[in-house]
Amino acid sequence: MRSTRLFGLDSLRGSLRLFTFLLVLLPVALAGTFFSLFDRERILRVEQTQLLAALRQDRTVIRSWLETRLENITFLADQEPVRRGDRDFLARSIRGYLQAHSHIYTVVYVNTDGVVAFDPKGNRGLYLGDRDYIAAAKAGRASIATVDASRATGGPLCVVCAPVIDLAGHYAGAIFMPVELVSLDHILGQTALGKGTGAVLTDSQGRILAPTGAAAAANGAVVAEALQRKLPPSGRGAIFRNRDGLEMVGAALPLQIDGWRLVREIPTATVLAGYRRQPLFVALGGLATVLLITPLVLQFCRRLERPMGVLSRYARELQAKRYDMACSSKELHGMPVEMRELFETFCTMASEVRRHIEESERLSIQDPLTGLYNRRFLFDGGAKLLEAAQRAKRACCCLMLDVDHFKEVNDSHGHQVGDQALAHIAWSIAGCARKSDLVARYGGEEFVVLLTGADRDQGRALAERIRRALADRPCRIQGRVLPVTVSIGVAEARQEVHFGAGMLDDLLVRADRAMYQAKAAGRDQVAVET
Ligand code: GH3
Ligand code: MG
Ligand code: MG
Repeated sequence: MRSTRLFGLDSLRGSLRLFTFLLVLLPVALAGTFFSLFDRERILRVEQTQLLAALRQDRTVIRSWLETRLENITFLADQEPVRRGDRDFLARSIRGYLQAHSHIYTVVYVNTDGVVAFDPKGNRGLYLGDRDYIAAAKAGRASIATVDASRATGGPLCVVCAPVIDLAGHYAGAIFMPVELVSLDHILGQTALGKGTGAVLTDSQGRILAPTGAAAAANGAVVAEALQRKLPPSGRGAIFRNRDGLEMVGAALPLQIDGWRLVREIPTATVLAGYRRQPLFVALGGLATVLLITPLVLQFCRRLERPMGVLSRYARELQAKRYDMACSSKELHGMPVEMRELFETFCTMASEVRRHIEESERLSIQDPLTGLYNRRFLFDGGAKLLEAAQRAKRACCCLMLDVDHFKEVNDSHGHQVGDQALAHIAWSIAGCARKSDLVARYGGEEFVVLLTGADRDQGRALAERIRRALADRPCRIQGRVLPVTVSIGVAEARQEVHFGAGMLDDLLVRADRAMYQAKAAGRDQVAVET
């Protein structure tokens, strides 16, 4: 509850702020989570497949390039003069071939003893009889082979070799072409391993052989070792950490020549870079949505906040017992229908409350039979009236009226007629008094008039007016004339209090005494306290 208030969630505005925040954050967080949980693996697997497909293409290109060279050599070895042992023809043919293929370093003839018998580069006498490709030639097979360290150059190379079979069908030496690995540079990508996807050729230990630029940069170090270790010979992709601790996705494929492999690898960060931007796009999308929607939501909130403010203001007025506040229809302008209904219901309810309260307030101070103030109001309002008059130093007096022989009216005509007679008397008294005078029914057939700004003589004058008015206008009920008279006692308010707790009590007692004097003197008359 406390945290709800702390973050402002107990208000519409605070909730809106939270929802807006979630609207931006949640899509990004969810996109990130789904990406790292599900999509990352899939993307890296797809990359591996693509790397393998590229490697297969590389291998096809390299092999077909080598096989073309092997066909050239085989064609030369099959020439009739060569088989006959025509060395001049062989030398001419080799020189002609080298002139036509400038990127081929040399073509060499090895005699039946395995010794170099012709090499345009001058390496005569070199013994190569122990090489596998010479052994294969002796067995009558043409082959493509690899050599980790050339006897002529010391570097690794590829060899295509074809046997020479004389016309009698006997082995007559071999012609081979060493293919420097630099020749593969234009086939393999020039990108150094670890930075891009260019293919490299490695030996069985994982040392780069080609392209020569990458081989020189690696300087004999084992690269893609993790990849080599992880992969089965059939070739597959893998995700691994390289020597620098960088996560890589890679693939390797055997070249099918003595354990040499083609390898391609790429940092996973590079592969995923494009996809990592996706959460950013989602965030931007979320932000744009928020920017577009926020003014609408704010307007919506304002449409709710304003009527709620008005309602709570009116509710506070009611709570503070200020029932005179009025619901203005101007407030309804621009309110949503639901709030309008709520507002109208509230206003109806408030005016009902107001009506009930006014009614009960009126009933609590009014005498129901005569419509005059009741005894309770006389003591409450009368005391205030006297205090105000005293502060203003104005004279104040009181008339106590008692109907003469009223019991007889009841006895002769019944209580109902008596009630009507009482109402008539009350109406007559009120008719004679001023607006500022307080006229109240004091008891059964007793009335009090409090006059402010009037001394006892003015009080006596009013009392006489009332007495005469009743005498002149007798009560007519059900066609009968009921003469009613009153005895009236008059007393003037004074500072010193002899009877009761306050000035009003004192004044009422003295007026009552004067009234009894009037009764005693024969009724239907006015007696003034002396
Ligand atoms: P007097 O004051 O002149 O001495 O005689 P009275 O007959 O008026 O005096 P009393 O106090 O004995 O009688 C008052 C009568 O007023 C008694 C009662 O029946 C009647 N009365 C009081 N209140 C009401 C009322 O509300 N309605 C009716 N109909 N009669 C009332
Ligand atoms: Mg009486
Ligand atoms: Mg009486």
